[in-house]
Amino acid sequence: MAGIDIEGLATVYPNGVRAVDGLDLHVADGEFFALLGPSGCGKTTLLRTIAGLENASEGTVRIDAADVTRTEPGKRGVAMVFQDYALFPHMSVAENITYPLKVRRVAAATRAETAERTAGELSLDGLLERRPGQLSGGQQQRVALARAIASQGKVLLLDEPLSNLDARLRLEARTFLKKLQRDLGITTVFVTHDQAEALALADRIAVMESGKLRQLGTPREVFARPVNTFVANFIGSTPMNLAPGVVSAAGVSVAGGTLPVEGFTPEGAEVTVGVRPEYLTLTTGDATGPGLRGTVVVAENLGVQSLVSVDCDGTLIGVTVPEEEEPEPGKPVFLTAPAARVLLYDAESGELLARQAVA
Ligand code: ADP
Ligand code: MG
Repeated sequence: MAGIDIEGLATVYPNGVRAVDGLDLHVADGEFFALLGPSGCGKTTLLRTIAGLENASEGTVRIDAADVTRTEPGKRGVAMVFQDYALFPHMSVAENITYPLKVRRVAAATRAETAERTAGELSLDGLLERRPGQLSGGQQQRVALARAIASQGKVLLLDEPLSNLDARLRLEARTFLKKLQRDLGITTVFVTHDQAEALALADRIAVMESGKLRQLGTPREVFARPVNTFVANFIGSTPMNLAPGVVSAAGVSVAGGTLPVEGFTPEGAEVTVGVRPEYLTLTTGDATGPGLRGTVVVAENLGVQSLVSVDCDGTLIGVTVPEEEEPEPGKPVFLTAPAARVLLYDAESGELLARQAVA
């Protein structure tokens, strides 16, 4: 079992920056785990601290139940792929892939066999004699992955491995990476600042901000139920609507009307109302029940859907509609949402308000 356990971990640079600031995390054996957050939030530092390339200032790192906090990088059983791949330009693909084995004095015949097999797994057949400079970006990325896999670590650490690829190739590499991880079953920590990538790949996601954990959950959980407005803002291809509201007897009053709310929240409480454009429904005819009235401003084409911006009493609310159902600008419309999809955040702290079931 090669899980990773992180307890009270802090990494402070000599200049005083607390890049990782008191983290507790458990990555399960075989899990595909994403570290997600904006640039500078401490993702690379956390990954390097797990690998032993940075020293933990506080706390512990355990890999496979062994405390490795003070263990040198080469003895932790981790393989890391760096953001810039860090391939050796003067070595062939085969030599690059098997370099970690050479360092460990593995016999040449075994190394050649490993290079062949790993290259096969990563669709690099026929490229073993080339130099990195003679490869495309996607191929270089796969050589870096092949080198990490060939080193047979217990844990694979990937620092934004897809970020140097162009958009199209990135999607292909993403699918490839997910399948490879499934096939190998190797515990993987994947760093990205791209929320779509994390949602697509990970079993679970840790969302970080300023060296701290802001939410830990499955892609579905962090998408449908962000626990604070930071995560609500960060996750989702179309931004979540966040608007001030006041809890009323009928639900929560917000720009242009009232939305239903599940459970019980004290009447009169000032909140930030969060509802995703994908969970709102737009109607143009007569409407009854709780909802928001507004006027269509613009529609943006997203492919099979369009994002319609609706002016509700001066606040713009986004709602997605199926393609070819975009109402004309200026049209009066009505927006509704199921109560379970309407989230209430504390207006001050931005934390999700726990909803108690009505007795
Ligand atoms: P991310 O990978 O999420 O973009 P990093 O881990 O690279 O974030 O950086 C986290 C914070 O630590 C940032 O404020 C960054 O400026 C700082 N930092 C990173 N590396 C060093 C270093 N070697 N010395 C001092 N500060 C650093
Ligand atoms: Mg980084």
